[in-house]
Amino acid sequence: MKNIKSLSISELRRYFESTGERKYRANQVFKWLWGKGVESFHEMTDIKKEVREKLSEEFYIFRLKIIKILKSRDGTKKYLFLTEDGNLIESVFIPDGRRRTVCVSSQIGCALGCRFCETGKDGLIRDLMFYEISQQVLEIMKNTGERITNVVFMGMGEPLLNMDNVLSAIEILNSPMGMAIGKRRITISTAGVVPGIYSLMERGIKQIKLAVSLNSPFDEIRDNLMPINKKYPIKTLIKSIKDFVKFTGKRVTIEYVLIHGITDRREDAEELIRILRGIPLKINLIPYNPGGDGGFIPPSRKDVERFANHLFPHLPAVNIRRSRGQDIKGACGQLRASHIKNDG
Ligand code: SAH
Ligand code: SF4
Repeated sequence: MKNIKSLSISELRRYFESTGERKYRANQVFKWLWGKGVESFHEMTDIKKEVREKLSEEFYIFRLKIIKILKSRDGTKKYLFLTEDGNLIESVFIPDGRRRTVCVSSQIGCALGCRFCETGKDGLIRDLMFYEISQQVLEIMKNTGERITNVVFMGMGEPLLNMDNVLSAIEILNSPMGMAIGKRRITISTAGVVPGIYSLMERGIKQIKLAVSLNSPFDEIRDNLMPINKKYPIKTLIKSIKDFVKFTGKRVTIEYVLIHGITDRREDAEELIRILRGIPLKINLIPYNPGGDGGFIPPSRKDVERFANHLFPHLPAVNIRRSRGQDIKGACGQLRASHIKNDG
């Protein structure tokens, strides 16, 4: 049996043409699969019974199995899913005012091995397929019964190293026949894969938002925290950010993890101002979320405020990312990591 969700809309059209059915059937089926999230072909009530039966003989409807849901006091929910090949992935549902954001994973594990990140600890297991990425949002939409308004690629993995699947997943999320989430409400976060940023430009991608995890303005420190910096150092990264802003006409988001004594010092703030000045951007300061055994220490609340106040007069839009779901293992990759540990 074939997984019908692994077919793109044009592949579905070709399938129906090849079986002598009308092409518009593809749109109907796509809407049932990705807009409504049905679990069986019988639910596709506007499709003739014979067609439904034929479909169910050839295909099955792919799902991600929910293994665990952790609910935080602040409404954040963390989902642990099982893939068909027995891997664990996690996604987070974050309600905030009228927004309903889902944070998705793009890979199982991550090859980049940032030292403060749980996901990077075991390297890359594999890329997620496009339908495994969009299915995370669909499962959460169904489980919460809420319309999802925003999607961020800030879960496990480096989205720019799985670009084709990420962009195909975004097409499904954005499609009016799918989940109809506006491209401007979708953010890709990168650790600084510079060729990936240029590749977005070459593909003419202007609406999707870009976030860059900078985390230190000094090469010596960033080399150590994020080994990808040795390949694409800060100067090269900043140049690509400037080119992207010029190309899209939109500001970028800079993610900055505050680690006590390493990235939250006065000289870090000063150098950050120097290298970012003049770039249209928004900065999210993220207090380090302790999880693994990296030996890093989170900043105190006072240190976070001091850092933000130092940046504030010099850089536009500085936000302190309220740590959501602290009580449910907030940072990405941590739920999966603790599940694996508990299981021995
Ligand atoms: N690979 C991409 C997207 C996933 S990581 C990237 O690195 O941008 C999403 C964000 O979580 C990044 O900004 C990363 O710096 C941050 N992060 C990872 N581990 C963290 C931790 N323990 N505490 C706080 N933020 C963390
Ligand atoms: Fe990978 Fe991002 Fe974690 Fe770095 S921070 S290891 S790039 S997921």
